[in-house]
This record gives sequence, C-alpha cells and structure tokens, in this order.
Amino acid sequence: MMAEAHPHGPVIIILGAPGAGKGTQAKHIAQVLDIPTISTGAIFRQNMADETELGRRAREYMDAGEFVPDTVTNPMITVRLGAPDTRRGYLLDGYPRTLDQAHYLRDFLAKSNSEVDLVIEIVTDEDEVVERLLNRAQQEGRSDDTEPIIRHRMRVYHDQTEPMATYYADQDKLVQVDGMGTVDDVWQRIVEVLVEYHLYTPDNS
Ligand code: AMP
Repeated sequence: MMAEAHPHGPVIIILGAPGAGKGTQAKHIAQVLDIPTISTGAIFRQNMADETELGRRAREYMDAGEFVPDTVTNPMITVRLGAPDTRRGYLLDGYPRTLDQAHYLRDFLAKSNSEVDLVIEIVTDEDEVVERLLNRAQQEGRSDDTEPIIRHRMRVYHDQTEPMATYYADQDKLVQVDGMGTVDDVWQRIVEVLVEYHLYTPDNS
C-alpha cells in the first residue's frame, strides 16, 4: 500500500540543467500529485524581490551564476521543509544541487524515518537550452540569464549536480527523461515514470 511505503507522502526531486524546462514540469507534477513544489531558486528570488536579508545575501551569488553557500541554503530549506504542507510529500526543484546538499537532505529526512523516493532528471541538449534561456530572460527579466552566465551555470551543473545524480543512480532512485521536444512530449514521458513508480494513476486510463 502506498500509505505504508510513504508515511509522509512521496519525496521527489526534479533535476535538469538550467533551462531544461524543470520549473514547468515541476508545476505539472505537483498539481497531479497534489503536493507542494519547493523551489530554492523561487524562494531566493522572492526574498530578493522583498528585499529581505536572505535575499540580499543570495543576490551576489545568483547574479554571478554561483551557488548560494550551504550556510544560507540549508537552514532555509530546513525551515521550509518543516512547514505543515510538506506532510503530504513534496517535490524539490533546485535542491539538492550538490553531493553535500544531498547528504544534508538524507540526514534531515532520516530524522523522520523518511528518504527520497524518486529523482527525475530531465536530460537536454546544451545549445537548445541556451536558446530557451535567452528567450526566458527576455520574457521574465531575470538578471542571471545572460549567455556567459548561462554557460557558467551549465558548467556548474555538470561539475556539481551531475555527480549528485550519480549518487541517486547508485541507489536506483534516478530516472532520466528525455527533455527534447514540446513541453507536452516531456510531460507524457514524466507521466509514464510516475505511473511506473505507482505515484500516479491517470484519470482516463
Ligand atoms: P534556479 O531557479 O533553480 O535555476 O536557481 C537560480 C539560482 O539560485 C542558482 O543559480 C543559484 O544561484 C541559486 N540556488 C538555487 N538553488 C540553490 C541550491 N540548492 N544551492 C545553492 N544555490 C541555489
């Protein structure tokens, strides 16, 4: 029974290089599973917009395409994961990003006898992604979406986040999904994964 396997609801991580379409797919997943999406990037951007102390500390790193230090990020995610809406499970978008963060998350979850259930990585072609990001920068006015910074963020993804994906692959928790094609193509591939992992049953099947 699902309730026994996931006493607190599923803990799912979505991964993908910058511009893989992870935010859009995350919204869909969270909607159909009725769980919150927790996006560290979104929390940082909200804090920047609200001009909080946290936002002020995060800005210089974000603008340079660098990771915000764990001393800022880990306490922030700990607070967020303590909120009542996380009891039915949640989808993490943008966290963990490094092996250290993955270990931090493992230790945090272990305290409630929980663990990561599934990691979905959206795999994309770098050049297509750069184009997508430059379009998004125009639409959303993100200050960290210029071409050199995008390329830098991709290198950081390869250097830091891909080794973390291996960590989850070694535990048989990683599923790679082809991120090429339309948003709907990718979504259909993700649905197949969610069905396979008994996390979701489509209505009209
Ligand atoms: P995102 O919206 O996930 O692309 O994140 C945008 C930026 O926020 C990243 O380039 C980092 O500067 C920062 N950020 C988001 N999540 C993390 C994290 N888990 N650790 C460190 N920095 C992060």
